[in-house]
Amino acid sequence: MEKFLNRYEDLKRTKSRTLRSYARDLALTGLSLAASEKYLAIPRVQFLYIHHVFKDEEKRLDALLKKLSKHHQFITYNDAVEKILKGTIDKPYITFSSDDGLKNNLRAAEILNEYNAKACFFINPGIIGETDYEKIKRFCTQTLDFPPVEFLNWDEVSKLQHWGHEIGSHTMMHMNIAAQAEQQITEDMHQTYRILNEKCGGVKHFAFPYGRFFHFSAIGRKAVFDAGFTTCATAERGCHINPVSPISNIDLCIRRDHTVLGWDMNHIMYFLINNAKHASVNNNFYPASFK
Ligand SMILES: [Zn+2]
Repeated sequence: MEKFLNRYEDLKRTKSRTLRSYARDLALTGLSLAASEKYLAIPRVQFLYIHHVFKDEEKRLDALLKKLSKHHQFITYNDAVEKILKGTIDKPYITFSSDDGLKNNLRAAEILNEYNAKACFFINPGIIGETDYEKIKRFCTQTLDFPPVEFLNWDEVSKLQHWGHEIGSHTMMHMNIAAQAEQQITEDMHQTYRILNEKCGGVKHFAFPYGRFFHFSAIGRKAVFDAGFTTCATAERGCHINPVSPISNIDLCIRRDHTVLGWDMNHIMYFLINNAKHASVNNNFYPASFK
């Protein structure tokens, strides 16, 4: 029988105990740091990204946005990039994104809309609108290490754009770039750039799947910009402050913090406070191995 996951509580049951204990440990650390919210006043750009807003996470997204709005101005992904490149960060800013294009991203967008917060949704064109359950199950299990979930269709992607959100590329089928040959990477970049711009128009942002530096390469970085994308994002934690002098878009290495709404709020805040505390101009650049 076709069965799609739709509750975070059910997801937790499919994951090992380690995930839960990890979250609990960090929540405790977060509690001890709660008094350090003063760091959130540091002018900076924080990118925050999610994957899902399941039914039982909707209230949590609302609560998080309420909390974050006390310390930050919400800006679009595009504006966030511009502020870093030009060095015009004059207060604490936050911008949202979401990876993998799950159907519940539509609900995320509706909640973001209530706060006039616009996000960038990084999608895999190869799975958008897929209705074959076995294909979805295979993709989720083998590629995302996730139970089967529904994905957005193209009409829903258009709706996100209509609401003022941006669409970005996350490769055709969630490719681990570090494990692929140059030709496959180059072909995938050009194909996704062409498809997304035909379907959506104005697509220029890229976020590589899995997101850690060891999932990427200098070849991948070159292929992203050669294909026409103008930004490239990681899932390495950190925030951005003004560079010493304006920097070029191909030199900007976007850091994004991964967040699961089901986590304890103190845990989420811990990461953001920690980023602000350790803010550095070095975060704007790639490590030497990506030159
Ligand atoms: Zn992803």
